[in-house]
Amino acid sequence: FFVELNQISGDTVVISGEDFKHITKVLRLGNNDVIEVCDGQGIDYQVVLSTPGDQRVGGVIKNRYPSEGENADLSVTLFQGLPKGTKMEVIIQKCVELGVTEIVPFSSQRAITQIKDKQDKKIERWQRIAYEAAKQSKRGIVPAVKNPCSLINLLAAKAHYDVFFLAYEDEQKQSLKMALDTFKKQNDVNKKLKIGVIIGPEGGFDPQEVETCQAAGVVCVSLGKRILRTETAGMVVLSQLNFWREG
Ligand code: SAM
Repeated sequence: FFVELNQISGDTVVISGEDFKHITKVLRLGNNDVIEVCDGQGIDYQVVLSTPGDQRVGGVIKNRYPSEGENADLSVTLFQGLPKGTKMEVIIQKCVELGVTEIVPFSSQRAITQIKDKQDKKIERWQRIAYEAAKQSKRGIVPAVKNPCSLINLLAAKAHYDVFFLAYEDEQKQSLKMALDTFKKQNDVNKKLKIGVIIGPEGGFDPQEVETCQAAGVVCVSLGKRILRTETAGMVVLSQLNFWREG
């Protein structure tokens, strides 16, 4: 269960709302039962429950430790070209399971879906999907789903990353593995690495957009000989990065 930091006070935790119902009515837990909660900041707590009240249940923290669901040496932001329909929901759910740290949707020339003013409801839904996926996969944080931006605007964030990749369907020379090997030779990788990954929408990238990204220092990589759907590409990159970092 994820709890807000204000639900934790000293050695005690108070749980209400839907989680209270789930703990007491669905799981039928109560006095002296042990649950695990997470503060969403990467720390897990082992909690011994007290007798539930009408609307809330308290507990005493017995142990606290870094969440095992987080990769201590990798942080990945997925910049995802806005896809059609509800595909973004699948992308969020699966990429959260695969350990993404943050997801930033963007619009670009060949995107069928463009940014609309009234995105609030959609973003709330996307954040809810990220929350549910984080809970299900025992993540230590709930990855943020940010407001959509444009491809050009996202380049401004590049300075905050150790390396920034763009998965390009027309890249012939360099695979992600080759780019990671080169990066490893030229940089200190014995620290937490912050990686940005750009995935195009269904229509892919316009060559001019790719040139602009390259001029800003973004590294183009191929994900293999086959063209993957936009919803598959981010998952493939995350799987490869996990393999690279976790061995
Ligand atoms: N419309 C493009 C075409 O026909 O060549 C394909 C775009 S693909 C469906 C959507 C995005 O997934 C691409 O822009 C890219 O970011 C990523 N992608 C898919 N397959 C890839 C591959 N083999 N190598 C690198 N990126 C790939």
